[in-house]
Amino acid sequence: MSNVYELKNVYKTYRNDGKEFTALKDVSLNVVEGEIFGIIGMSGAGKSTLVRTLNRLEDVTGGTVEFYGRDLAGLSAGQLRKVRHSISMIFQGFNLLQQRTVIENVEQPLRISGIPRKKRKEIAREMLRVVGLEEKEKVFPARLSGGQRQRVAIARALASDPKVLLCDEATSALDPKITGEILELLQKINRERGLTIIIITHEMSVVEKICDRVAIIDDGELAEIGDVKEVFRQPRSRAARKLVFPANPFDPSSPDGRLIRIVFDGLAANEPFIANLVETTGKKVNILSANTKSVGGIGYGQMVLELPDDKKDQDIIVDFFKKNGLSVSEVELA
Ligand code: ADP
Repeated sequence: MSNVYELKNVYKTYRNDGKEFTALKDVSLNVVEGEIFGIIGMSGAGKSTLVRTLNRLEDVTGGTVEFYGRDLAGLSAGQLRKVRHSISMIFQGFNLLQQRTVIENVEQPLRISGIPRKKRKEIAREMLRVVGLEEKEKVFPARLSGGQRQRVAIARALASDPKVLLCDEATSALDPKITGEILELLQKINRERGLTIIIITHEMSVVEKICDRVAIIDDGELAEIGDVKEVFRQPRSRAARKLVFPANPFDPSSPDGRLIRIVFDGLAANEPFIANLVETTGKKVNILSANTKSVGGIGYGQMVLELPDDKKDQDIIVDFFKKNGLSVSEVELA
């Protein structure tokens, strides 16, 4: 499998009016051909800065961004234009030309690269078919819904037959149902055309739904990177835990009480481990919350448990869970 992108020790410092701000600090990651790669982080984490380095809309201050093994910084203007042609992008705001019909919008990149009219139309129609909008080719964007506008933007992005599609918060302006439909479309395009897709988002649900791997950006740094299933099952960094687990709404009912979170995977999810705990150790716990989800067909879940006041009992319980292959972490109190 070849790397579409390889970022090595990327830094980006903005300089404005004598002030400096470092938005990316030592970010190293790779994106593999054919995968759907998620980049997630809170607002202001540096996601947009990172995505702009991927087509050199932003020059890096340190480190390198390689696209198919070529350092973007070393390209001439002509070479860069060519490379950019193989990197398509869709945005939160769709960025359609309002004075042009749907099909004219889709034709736009082809017009820029000098493809003859007949061929342009043919490709644009084919792309509109891919996104399910062949009926709308003569309509103006103002008459389309948000989801339809994003479909047009996707058709336009595909028209130039890119090697990679960058999606910058592409579903953030859409309601959950339409978001789901757009994500399914992107997944279909990835599977059927083998197109590498990079998704920038602040929503874990987007990553959960379609990404193969995810990078978590926190305050300009790469906090964690890995398979989505792994990150969900066992988030290692504080930033990942904050995204995967909602804020803890509980307090222990006694000052000596202790709250733990156990995380289990598909296998363990079917085992009655709370009943086993009571049976094996005679100790009881109080279940404060529990939920299970399915990620990529594998069930996983988590529970927040309140342990008894006695410290020895607490240790026995934690030991039991660990011996049974569950991941145990302390719940940080607000
Ligand atoms: P995100 O996309 O994760 O919300 P951004 O990459 O947009 O984050 O921004 C990361 C940080 O860099 C923010 O603190 C933002 O204010 C700062 N920043 C972004 N662009 C510029 C710029 N052109 N000049 C100065 N600071 C910037």
